[in-house]
Amino acid sequence: MKKIGIIGGGASGLAAAVTAARQKDTEVFILEHKEQAGKKLLSTGNGRCNLTNERMDGSFFRSCEPDCIEAVLKQFGYEDTVHFFEGLGLMLRSRNGYIYPRCEQASVVRELLVREAKRLGVRIYTDVHVTEILPGRKGFKISGGRETFYADRVILSCGGRAAKVLGSDGSGYALAKSLGHSLVPVVPALVQLKVKDNPLKAAAGVRTEALVSAYVDGKCAASDTGELQITDYGISGIPVFQVSRYMAMALYQKKKAEIVLDFLPSMAEEEFLEYLMKRRSGREDMKTSEFLAGIFNNKLTSCLPLPAEISVKRRVGELEREEQRRFVRQCKHMVLPIQDTNGFDNAQVCAGGVSLREIDRNTMESCYVEGLYLAGELLDADGMCGGYNLQWAWATGVLAGRAAGRQ
Ligand SMILES: Cc1cc2nc3c(=O)[nH]c(=O)nc-3n(C[C@H](O)[C@H](O)[C@H](O)COP(=O)(O)OP(=O)(O)OC[C@H]3O[C@@H](n4cnc5c(N)ncnc54)[C@H](O)[C@@H]3O)c2cc1C
Repeated sequence: MKKIGIIGGGASGLAAAVTAARQKDTEVFILEHKEQAGKKLLSTGNGRCNLTNERMDGSFFRSCEPDCIEAVLKQFGYEDTVHFFEGLGLMLRSRNGYIYPRCEQASVVRELLVREAKRLGVRIYTDVHVTEILPGRKGFKISGGRETFYADRVILSCGGRAAKVLGSDGSGYALAKSLGHSLVPVVPALVQLKVKDNPLKAAAGVRTEALVSAYVDGKCAASDTGELQITDYGISGIPVFQVSRYMAMALYQKKKAEIVLDFLPSMAEEEFLEYLMKRRSGREDMKTSEFLAGIFNNKLTSCLPLPAEISVKRRVGELEREEQRRFVRQCKHMVLPIQDTNGFDNAQVCAGGVSLREIDRNTMESCYVEGLYLAGELLDADGMCGGYNLQWAWATGVLAGRAAGRQ
């Protein structure tokens, strides 16, 4: 009988536990420091759990080792996740490719995982905070509070440090380091951005469609279109989340981090210019400061600064074509200097983590410690919004559980 200890009962730990326990002659236990396993799962997808995505390949992830991501997804991809959960009795539905439980309850995902783990005999010890893992000749000694546990193989699945209240407090990184692993710098990702002297402050609360582009040292690193949310400190919403990891990494590396907003992504600059030129007729007497009313939310319009050389008092009919063009550019190319991101507590995931160079990509086994496996967000891989981070957790958890349970 092989004893497998899983440190952290989150998404990847539960997937690992179920997979390992399905194999012959295994005895599996989970050590979880929260009062219940899978607590974070309850909050995923706004309580509905977006557990994977039909569009699945390495391009939806970021890591210093992109090949490793592809290798993992080849062994356990979207279809495998669907099969895994359908096997647990979960009926799924797709919303434009985003996969959710049909019942739209994240709690059911957690419940089915925990129920299957228990059915297979997995013991779940809660309120056990693991502080030390010591590899020895006969396996591992694991210290958790006043208790000590022994295992032949260990799967480290403690998550990152995003949303600490849900369990992942960063202690997994210290455990991985104590076992010889190194870290790619860890920064918040899928997170809101703080704007220096936020010029959009007066529009706080406005939601509007926008193309959000992240520029690092003047070069566009990523962009996404969707519903932008303006806050008093900066910007939020899915398109901001999608590009936020580039801003976080840039700030960490002391590079220039800027967001460029296009408030009218559905119209090219020239098209918008023609539209405004036509729209002038009958409105020639309007002040330039009022000219955008009816196109954007009024609160937003009041924040869109006019080009410096155009006085607010000038009449629309007086504007030359080139002046109008500058006007257009302001609406489609607003530059916001990024001061910071919100912290780890507000982030959905972490970018960076244990280097994938130090992991066997087929088994998730550590290259340094035999019998130690690593899974989930603890590793240097972050996905975009859309079920990618859970896919990574299931995939690496299953690969680790499979290998650890092998004879
Ligand atoms: C609000 C929110 C919404 C999200 N929504 C989605 C979504 O819809 N789709 C998606 O794909 N991703 C989503 N994510 C991201 C996703 O939840 C995570 O990427 C995923 O849960 C990571 O799985 P994990 O197993 O690596 O870590 P976690 O799920 O964080 O699990 C780690 C576990 O280890 C435990 N632990 C940590 N340290 C110790 C220790 N020292 N001793 C004992 N136990 C320990 C923790 O308590 C925790 O239970 C969301 C994240 C948040 C915060």
